Amino acid sequence: MTDYGIARRRMVEEQLVARGIRDERIIDAFLAVPRHLFVDPAVRSRAYDGCSFPIGYNQTISQPFIQAAMMQHLGIKSTDRVLEIGTGSGYQTAILSMIAREVCSIERIEALSAAAEAVLKDIPTGRIRLRAGDGSAGWPYYAPFDKIIVSAAMSKCSEELLSQLADGGGLIAPVQDVEEQLVLYSKKGEAIEELKLSRCSFVPLLKGVG
Ligand code: SAH
Repeated sequence: MTDYGIARRRMVEEQLVARGIRDERIIDAFLAVPRHLFVDPAVRSRAYDGCSFPIGYNQTISQPFIQAAMMQHLGIKSTDRVLEIGTGSGYQTAILSMIAREVCSIERIEALSAAAEAVLKDIPTGRIRLRAGDGSAGWPYYAPFDKIIVSAAMSKCSEELLSQLADGGGLIAPVQDVEEQLVLYSKKGEAIEELKLSRCSFVPLLKGVG
């Protein structure tokens, strides 16, 4: 029998804190959310190893470190409304809901969105809205968002997503240029500042629904 609580604490210490995650609210959220419920039962005992795992439909649950680093770069506040593109397993959605005021999350593969919803309804989370559909155009109905986090690689940052950022807001996304890089976009009035952070590797953002 695996002690998930001990494994989870070790993941947070070795994969997050030791690698530079300092934001207490992010750390507390990773300590609270049961990652093993978001992975395939066949790999459940390894859920806290710090790696990514297949979640079906050629998609993966991302590494916890990259998720935590993206959240830390965004500087998410408890009053923020966040848009997430690529719900996937729903794990990051659960974490985001604990550090923000509300999370709106879009997933293009309907079966993944439904599976995420089933797990999320059985665990304590903050406020979450899920939608199955193409997230590349964002979710105008609930815009503007204080923060936007994109979990699939774009060839360039979508103007539609940037237009849904509140003034002072931030968007983080993997962007495939010559190489794939994590890029942070900050909205200051009409201007968008762009900061390239590090190389990364994500599944591609696809158009249409799956
Ligand atoms: N944060 C997720 C990572 C999922 S991988 C997790 O922790 O589980 C990225 C996800 O983005 C995949 O589920 C993929 O289906 C989804 N995706 C790709 N293109 C998309 C699009 N245009 N709109 C919405 N979701 C998309």
